[in-house]
Amino acid sequence: AGTIRFEDVRFAYDPDRPILQGLSFEVPAGKTVAIVGPSGAGKSTVSRLLYRFYDVTGGRITIDGQDLRAVTQRSLRESIGMVPQDTVLFNDTIRYNIRYGRWEATDAEVEEAARLARIDGFIRMAPKGYDTEVGERGLKLSGGEKQRVAIARTILKGPPILLLDEATSALDSHTEKEIQDALQQVSRNRTTLVIAHRLSTIVAADEIIVLDKGRIVERGTHAALLAEG
Ligand code: ADP
Ligand code: ADP
Repeated sequence: AGTIRFEDVRFAYDPDRPILQGLSFEVPAGKTVAIVGPSGAGKSTVSRLLYRFYDVTGGRITIDGQDLRAVTQRSLRESIGMVPQDTVLFNDTIRYNIRYGRWEATDAEVEEAARLARIDGFIRMAPKGYDTEVGERGLKLSGGEKQRVAIARTILKGPPILLLDEATSALDSHTEKEIQDALQQVSRNRTTLVIAHRLSTIVAADEIIVLDKGRIVERGTHAALLAEG
């Protein structure tokens, strides 16, 4: 499960200013697509449409053949895990924040998700009633660390589709690569991964779609795009 299709998708926030002008692509279930392109290209808009913050103004989006407009919000939220650009954490332990939404998860599962998101180092440090900004131990989370908590939460939930909108941009490039690799590992043939990112540093994607001004200007594997220059 988890095949995504955009069929001639059109969208405008303001009627007189089209943003997406006939976008078509397919991500087979279990595959990874990276949507890259300059700021303003429409990458976040693609994520927002997929998560149905907005409805398309033309064409259609389907998941496993079903039009998104026929899917209830509830079942959509269950099938798509979204890690946004900025994560706001609950003022509670890191453990709580990771477990949020999947309370039945075992401690071992929580720890495995933390390990994959590279935050196992401080999951144990966080005391109960810990303040996520400035904890008892003076541990202040950076933007990148908060992102990793959000990523761990999403890994733990394990939805069929995972949406990362600039979710790893706040990380240094080494950690970013580590986390992308970890996500590829957990998602391999199980989770459809959609990564929206300014840079085409996502080497492991099955397909890279380059957007500019709401249109696809290039697509292919990382190697093919490099070969073309
Ligand atoms: P990207 O994620 O590639 O930077 P976005 O999808 O955020 O691009 O934005 C695409 C275009 O849509 C930009 O021109 C942006 O100014 C415009 N836009 C984004 N969000 C809104 C909004 N809520 N209302 C009006 N215009 C918007
Ligand atoms: P510990 O083993 O450290 O005493 P717990 O395993 O009881 O802690 O819980 C770990 C974290 O998960 C805590 O922050 C707790 O608030 C949260 N948590 C566990 N179960 C639930 C639940 N059913 N509802 C809300 N939060 C929960």
